[in-house]
Amino acid sequence: MISVTDALQVVLEATPVLGAERVTLAQSCGRVATEAVTSLRAVPSADNSAMDGYAVRGADVATDPVRLRVVGSAPAGSLLAGRVEHGTAAKIFTGSIIPAGADTVVRVEDTDEADGVVTIRVAVKPGTNVRSQGEDIRPGATVLAPGTVVGPADIGVLASVGRAVVSVRRRPRVAIVSTGAELVEIDEMPGAAGVVNSNAYVLAAAVAQAGGLPIVLPIARDRLEDIRDRIADAAEADVILSTGGVSVGEFDFVRDALDAVGVERRFWKVAQKPGKPLTFGTLGRRLFFGLPGNPVSALVCFAVYVWPSLRKLGGHAAIHHAVVPARLVATVRTPPGLTEFVRVHLAREGDGWTATPFATQGSGVLSSLARGAGLLVAPAAAATLDAGSVYPVIVLDDTTLATEQPAFSS
Ligand code: AMP
Ligand code: MG
Repeated sequence: MISVTDALQVVLEATPVLGAERVTLAQSCGRVATEAVTSLRAVPSADNSAMDGYAVRGADVATDPVRLRVVGSAPAGSLLAGRVEHGTAAKIFTGSIIPAGADTVVRVEDTDEADGVVTIRVAVKPGTNVRSQGEDIRPGATVLAPGTVVGPADIGVLASVGRAVVSVRRRPRVAIVSTGAELVEIDEMPGAAGVVNSNAYVLAAAVAQAGGLPIVLPIARDRLEDIRDRIADAAEADVILSTGGVSVGEFDFVRDALDAVGVERRFWKVAQKPGKPLTFGTLGRRLFFGLPGNPVSALVCFAVYVWPSLRKLGGHAAIHHAVVPARLVATVRTPPGLTEFVRVHLAREGDGWTATPFATQGSGVLSSLARGAGLLVAPAAAATLDAGSVYPVIVLDDTTLATEQPAFSS
């Protein structure tokens, strides 16, 4: 039996980083850039006004009040035909290009205009209220670096320099195979001995959340050939996730099926609870995770091993779920020799967190992993976790970090 830390290391060392593909900006959010993008343009493309007001020569407005003749108006998007000479001004708007001859903008609030003459009531320094050419981006500047997780602001910058397509890491294609003679598809009525294949839905959602592309295959029965054929069907996938059939039961064929298709088994059995029978192997660059069938075990193994593996495949550097220190509210007994992922509900307490263990830690009780859930990591050596002590908790649900009311005030 391998430890959790060693198992995770084996998984991540075997996980490659996928190649690149070119996608439109709209598809790039959250993906990892694989190229440096250099701007050929200046943004803004020319000096422009930060205010509605009058474009003037700085030297003309060093004292107040002054009166200047208005020679024209330049709404945003247009260019003033003439020049602003000594003693004149042009009406200008936010975003308007600064007319030739002018270098300063006086805001409209500090002026009065009548009969073609504007009175500037307040002296201003030369250059005031001018956004200079290239202030945001200079020609030749790197606007996107490889390894960046593309966000909305990056997309805006790329758009403003005319980049419509960007090269990013491919999304991992993840085939999902549920195994079990008892399983029925969601739209079938389960008989007395039947179980709806919920794992496939759980995992497809989790894969999508991790940035992967889930491919759900039909249920495989507890027969070696069935499971082997399903694995062969998933030849296009970067990752295959199976659930069920990895224990020591008479009908647990996943390991034999992996052997039959030539998968190099890296480990089977991890010193953890839940999810002890987790199996992992590789075939070339493809990864196989044999997850236990119990819904909780499957999702816990996904969070701890598959999630970071998918994030690494997608090119991310920060690949693990966040971990917060939380105060345990009730004493918990844990199995000696196994790292236990105790299902807890995380809640804020002042600047910190509390972890309330779910009453039922059964590996079939999926509600213990619903909203607000975390996994408190109980080290293998511990037999008892004391109420009031602080332990690391894996945050499974990002919305745990969000707040109902703004956590700031003006
Ligand atoms: P196994 O690991 O195959 O022994 O399955 C352990 C338990 O998980 C059994 O109670 C199964 O019915 C249940 N189970 C296995 N596969 C699934 C699945 N795809 N969806 C829901 N429950 C499952
Ligand atoms: Mg089974």
